[in-house]
Amino acid sequence: MSLFTQVKSQITTRQAAEAYGLMVSRSGMACCIFHDDRHPSMKIDERYYCFSCHATGDVIDFTAKLFGLSPLDAAKKLAADFGICPLPPTQSAPIPKVSPALSDRKETLAALRLLTDYEQLLKRWKEEFAPATPDVEVWDERFCQALRHLMPVSHAIDCLLSSDPEERKEMLAYIKRTDTLSKIEAILNENRTEVNCDAEENDRAA
Ligand SMILES: [Zn+2]
Repeated sequence: MSLFTQVKSQITTRQAAEAYGLMVSRSGMACCIFHDDRHPSMKIDERYYCFSCHATGDVIDFTAKLFGLSPLDAAKKLAADFGICPLPPTQSAPIPKVSPALSDRKETLAALRLLTDYEQLLKRWKEEFAPATPDVEVWDERFCQALRHLMPVSHAIDCLLSSDPEERKEMLAYIKRTDTLSKIEAILNENRTEVNCDAEENDRAA
């Protein structure tokens, strides 16, 4: 019996998911690890299936994606962690609570969400608050902000989406160091409030 068959016949995806720190509800639902999921949309049982991003596979695919391993290494890890066929101790690493790859991924996704929202806002401002004629003396602050921030924001998004892990890591570290995300969040929140006020005013006018 091959290692793959042995592992798949003895460990369900659900058992692996729980052992590796995922919260799985009694009905077998969990937050998907393959897309940014705020409400559990992944069904985990023998195999897994995400109703939102349609990621699917077996326990080996799941473990491979979770830890960034090849299918063979994932099968070996599962065998070692679940004591299926005893491997030399060096090959059976302790089970981490949440894999570093997963927590990095979540951070990157959270950063990307804010950055792309901000990019949208800046693009809108660049159109909406552009000076009507070239000789307007005082430019709207929002237009200036769009000019200043659009390029760096787009660059940050590119880096976070880069296939080079070093580039992603560096950008993420830079974003954290400069506290960029909380600043962007504040701007987005402020703007959301403005939009709401506008809507209320329109309601009153109607
Ligand atoms: Zn998903």
